[in-house]
Amino acid sequence: MKDRGVLTVVSGFAGSGKGTIMKELLSRYDNYALSISATTRAPRPGEEHGKHYFFVGREEFEEMIRKDELLEYARYVENYYGTPRKYVEEMLGSGKDVILEIETQGALLVREKLPDTLLLFISPPSVQEIYNRLKKRGTETEENIRQRMTRAVTEAELAEQYDYLIINDDLEECIKQVHETIQAAHFRMDRSMEQLKKLQSEFAQYIKQ
Ligand code: 5GP
Repeated sequence: MKDRGVLTVVSGFAGSGKGTIMKELLSRYDNYALSISATTRAPRPGEEHGKHYFFVGREEFEEMIRKDELLEYARYVENYYGTPRKYVEEMLGSGKDVILEIETQGALLVREKLPDTLLLFISPPSVQEIYNRLKKRGTETEENIRQRMTRAVTEAELAEQYDYLIINDDLEECIKQVHETIQAAHFRMDRSMEQLKKLQSEFAQYIKQ
């Protein structure tokens, strides 16, 4: 039987390049599945329903909350964002390593529910760089950039509770580090208890002989 997949949450400041990193991981390796979130925010130019997000109205989102269809959800800069539960559970069960690209409050909720979740935080090397990348994207107003920078202060505090901080200075290096960290998580002791117990009981048998 295939091992259950590793659930990884990737968070990072707006403009951290995490979207590009996820895209590269999915195109290079076939063991990953990326969860698609539901959101009430309006699509940016080029974003597609069902590919980047499920773009829904506020009422529809609240209905999903009521029906307990979301693994977690949070408000971020005046909009709701949430992770549909069904896809995540199905993919983990089929052995895929599932990645959630979500903000920090949602990440910590996921870990409360599923304690063996791996939490990775990705950041550009400096705050100036974060601002520059947001500005360069050209899709946000100055007011929205300011709100996102303010939110980043809280994110930087909550990131203390994550397992790993990966600095995105060199994209190739960063993709490699994210991939290797997730693959190493397969062998974590808390996931390997069954195997260890089996060895312990074999030792017990051996000693008795
Ligand atoms: P953006 O509007 O830039 O696409 O996303 C804003 C923030 O919401 C990002 O930090 C992104 O990772 C986060 N986000 C996206 N989907 C979800 C989700 O399903 N749940 C939570 N908690 N955050 C999400």
